[in-house]
Amino acid sequence: MTAFMKLGLAQLKTGENPLRYSSKEEAWVRELAASVAKEGTKVLGELEIDLTLTNLEPDFFLTGAVRFSAEQVCGRCAESFPLPIIQPIALGLAHVKSAGRGESEDKLSDDSEELDIHYFEGNELDLAPLISEAIFLSIPFAPICRPDCKGICQNCGSNLNMKACSCQNVKPPGVFSRLSEYQCHTTR
Ligand SMILES: [Zn+2]
Ligand SMILES: [Zn+2]
Repeated sequence: MTAFMKLGLAQLKTGENPLRYSSKEEAWVRELAASVAKEGTKVLGELEIDLTLTNLEPDFFLTGAVRFSAEQVCGRCAESFPLPIIQPIALGLAHVKSAGRGESEDKLSDDSEELDIHYFEGNELDLAPLISEAIFLSIPFAPICRPDCKGICQNCGSNLNMKACSCQNVKPPGVFSRLSEYQCHTTR
């Protein structure tokens, strides 16, 4: 199921509109977390969304952050760990009237060359795909459990964060490296 959160533009006041959502309170946020899990990343605990939608008719700015913990597998030691993530959101939302992009596009791009701009039509704004995109952007490609993770011994497969293995200390060439390999297998 695709999560959606359609915000009626008529209910927004001019200027800043604070928007806060949480997986504890809103079903659509839980659906969002479930769709992230379906893509392979489990969201641990609460998913919090804290946004400000600034109404500058006809266009909008969406700023804020998404907070959650993602279950990750360390690229070095292969252990699962919770990775706390705060992903900032800063988007320009250009309201496309049925006639086309026209002036709203010009206005936003003048103000904000660096800003990522999304276009939307109609009298509702669906926040869910915007937040979903921010979540997917925030998930690291090659996470490590901590900056000094020692990883796994290539020789014996021990997790070196738990305990140093005997093959780790000696790295001499030739005969001695064979010897350390031997030690590794025997101490398993
Ligand atoms: Zn690790
Ligand atoms: Zn080892």
